[in-house]
Amino acid sequence: MKLVLLGPPGAGKGTQAERLVKKHGIPQLSTGDMLRAAVKAGTPVGLQAKAVMESGGLVSDEIVVGIIADRMEEPDAVNGFILDGFPRTVAQAQALDVMLEKKGLKLDGIVELKVDENALMARIEKRAAETLAAGGVVRADDNPDAFKKRLVAYREQTAPVSAYYASRGTLKTVDGMASIDDVTRAIDSVLAG
Ligand code: ADP
Repeated sequence: MKLVLLGPPGAGKGTQAERLVKKHGIPQLSTGDMLRAAVKAGTPVGLQAKAVMESGGLVSDEIVVGIIADRMEEPDAVNGFILDGFPRTVAQAQALDVMLEKKGLKLDGIVELKVDENALMARIEKRAAETLAAGGVVRADDNPDAFKKRLVAYREQTAPVSAYYASRGTLKTVDGMASIDDVTRAIDSVLAG
């Protein structure tokens, strides 16, 4: 099973990806997680990505396409994967098409979580508060200024990715405002149908 999860920041992609990992036994490939790990480790990619991530902007297509191409070569991704946070631009979607075509692979599903933009900031604030309460470190981009920029990046650069897949008839849309369990059920059902 090869899936793409689309949706704005705070839509619940990570939460649903975790459940899909368990259900299908395939890895979640989150470019956000991979980039945060690179920043933490201080790798060349991390050094390049740090400032733009903290401000809420997008890292260059070249960097993320390279990261995903490498990650898809790892043995655990042979039987499938869930892409979370990638593709985030139409150029990334086109690069993904080329990558998959070369391997003779096809996506089984592209699922978009539709969420009311007004609810997103509140979700991010809740996530930051829960992280703090659990003694964790809040993401550098989970603050109002960076979040506003993430939403603009989403509207301008990532919403067109949904249109790209919709125009090919491969996009499935799920109501991301429903409860976590209901969203999971809705995803299972669009993937089965
Ligand atoms: P969110 O919770 O906002 O969906 P992610 O954890 O997916 O965030 O990503 C955090 C940040 O990492 C993004 O704001 C962006 O700077 C960078 N990033 C992640 N994936 C990509 C991508 N595919 N292209 C460009 N930048 C990315």
